[in-house]
Amino acid sequence: KKIVIVGGVAGGASTAARLRRLDENAKIIMFERGEYISFANCGLPYYIGETITERDALLVQTVEGMSKKFNMDIRNLSEVTKINKDKKTVTVKNLRTNETYEESYDYLVLSPGASPIKPPIPGIDKADNLFTLRNIPDTDAIKEFVDNKKPKKAVVVGGGFIGIEMAENLHDRGIEVTLVEMANQIMAPVDFEMASILHSHIKDKGVNLILEDGVKEFKNKGRKILLSSGKEIEADMIILSIGVRPESNLAKDAGLELGERGTIKVDETLRTSDKNIYALGDAVEVTDYINKKPTMIPLAWPANRQGRLVADHINGRNVKYNGTMGTSIAKVFDMTVASTGNNEKTLKRLGIEYKAIHIHPGSHAGYYPGAFPIALKLIFDPKDGKIFGAQGVGYDGVDKRIDVIATAIKGGLTVFNLPDLELAYAPPYSSAKDPVNMAGYVAS
Ligand code: FAD
Repeated sequence: KKIVIVGGVAGGASTAARLRRLDENAKIIMFERGEYISFANCGLPYYIGETITERDALLVQTVEGMSKKFNMDIRNLSEVTKINKDKKTVTVKNLRTNETYEESYDYLVLSPGASPIKPPIPGIDKADNLFTLRNIPDTDAIKEFVDNKKPKKAVVVGGGFIGIEMAENLHDRGIEVTLVEMANQIMAPVDFEMASILHSHIKDKGVNLILEDGVKEFKNKGRKILLSSGKEIEADMIILSIGVRPESNLAKDAGLELGERGTIKVDETLRTSDKNIYALGDAVEVTDYINKKPTMIPLAWPANRQGRLVADHINGRNVKYNGTMGTSIAKVFDMTVASTGNNEKTLKRLGIEYKAIHIHPGSHAGYYPGAFPIALKLIFDPKDGKIFGAQGVGYDGVDKRIDVIATAIKGGLTVFNLPDLELAYAPPYSSAKDPVNMAGYVAS
């Protein structure tokens, strides 16, 4: 078998490694447009903030290392420019030499990811202090700017995961940060009242938070930003983090079927409309695990999981991807926000009947020092107790509770089962009635 993979980071590299483990003889070629493969996207903000101090720590695998370890042909600085699905070949441009050639495949795997959205806001092209963050070169450019230009004021546009992480990391570098968000809340996966806790926290930390306002124009080469409200803010540097767009052009040009928001459409086995072509990761449409509607959820767990399943399927295993729940977490200065499943906003939009409860138990026994309340929200079907989702905001132990509930959802447990979960307890860690048990008692 000859398998060609497009994209050499989260999904692509996972697929490649698993392919080799399943078949010693397969010919595996992995193309990556950039210089680096298999780097730690999720660590990039923390290198800029200098929590991660070694640049090399971001490079999980190198081209040489991975080629040798897995006996595969990895070609970086190589962009796949066309899929010729009738001939079962791809056209590749070597970005070092500008040469173009064709490579054949038995199976093609697309994991091209998603790129930062950069809308045509007036002045955006002239703003020489404006950055987006996706890969190592972006990271180097931002870090170099911070190190050398020593900006005093940064404006982060967009309050999603990357925006919030960048706000914190730039703040850690001693920069005064303004965060501008068009919605009435940051961190869209959680509901307003949960995000409000974060709003207070980041303001307490000194971040200037501007909600319900957008960028109208970048003036003076990006040194001044005019907002829709008419407000003007100064910026020595700008991070634009307003979301990502699936890189589906290759698929589209090849006539593969597309899905929600320009994603690549795939079936349960992650095959596209061409049975020899698989696609996965940020670029594909997934089924929302809770409400079963098509959606796009660009996170690392789905990319890694799907990579493994694609390799399994190519090797004849009867596997399928069950959908994405969107379990996610972020550090917001001293706090943690995490969520899984659907939030109230989504359920309301879809007209699904639900009930939500809020509790504020301690992260561990109150008599043992260092316990902080966790704001925990559980959303469920009042008819049968099916868990739709959960959200947590707090200082400690939020990750554990959301992960337990995420596991409960995948296991098909209802709110009535939560009190019966026998969870680890000693005073420094929890209470004899864990917050997850408590949520179950209150819900039922
Ligand atoms: P990518 O990992 O982006 O890989 C796609 C690769 O394909 C790219 O390197 C691209 O250059 C290459 N490519 C595209 N087109 C071509 C072509 N035609 N030819 C050759 N190569 C091509 N997720 C979490 O769950 N938790 C986190 O904490 C988290 N933090 C993040 C922080 C940052 C700063 C970023 C940018 C992302 C973060 N993510 C996080 C998201 C996570 O990194 C992605 O969901 C994941 O990387 C998706 O994997 P992928 O393989 O689909 O795409």
